[in-house]
Amino acid sequence: MKLVFFGAPGAGKGTIAKKFNEEFGIPQISTGDLFRAAIKNKTELGLKVSEIMAKGGLVSDDITIGIVKERIKNDDCKDGYILDGFPRTMIQAENWEKADSVDLAIYFDIKDDEVKKRLGGRRVCPKCGKIYNVFFSKPKVENICDNDNETLIIREDDREEAIANRLVVYHSQTAPLLDYYKKFDKVIAIDATAAPEMVYSQIKKALKF
Ligand code: AMP
Repeated sequence: MKLVFFGAPGAGKGTIAKKFNEEFGIPQISTGDLFRAAIKNKTELGLKVSEIMAKGGLVSDDITIGIVKERIKNDDCKDGYILDGFPRTMIQAENWEKADSVDLAIYFDIKDDEVKKRLGGRRVCPKCGKIYNVFFSKPKVENICDNDNETLIIREDDREEAIANRLVVYHSQTAPLLDYYKKFDKVIAIDATAAPEMVYSQIKKALKF
């Protein structure tokens, strides 16, 4: 099954995609993760995208579509995948419908205020990638990863100005995808303010998993 997870940043798309990966082995294709890996490895792509990402802007459609096309050539995607954070613009969505039409688009519905709290409170372990939140899921020791004792960091694009920018970008560029996928009758809307376990079971039920 080919699925798109879309919704505001911080809506929990990545968390839920990881759960599908763990339980059913469906690959999670996160364009954000692919870009972050490129930045970490200091590749040519990483150098191109780091500044725009830090400000909360969008990487160009050409680059983004290109990396997803490359990624789905891997054998693990032959039975389907979850696109997490892609498409994020109408151009990406239209292009992808032509390239590899998806079965369903799961819309993670969440209000801006909740997004600000989630992203503003997010802390990440630079070593293992585990995600915490200073409001809802604190580590056992303040600002230290439970797994490996690393000091937690704030993602560059989780700083206040970047969050505000990401929300503006979301409403202008990504929100129109809701009507786009509705036209093809492909949307399943989920209340993303609920706890992750609830969101996960709502989606599994809707997909008849
Ligand atoms: P995410 O982890 O999904 O929130 O993505 C982090 C950042 O990566 C975004 O703020 C963008 O700068 C970039 N990015 C991720 N996915 C896309 C996309 N589909 N199109 C353009 N830029 C993207």
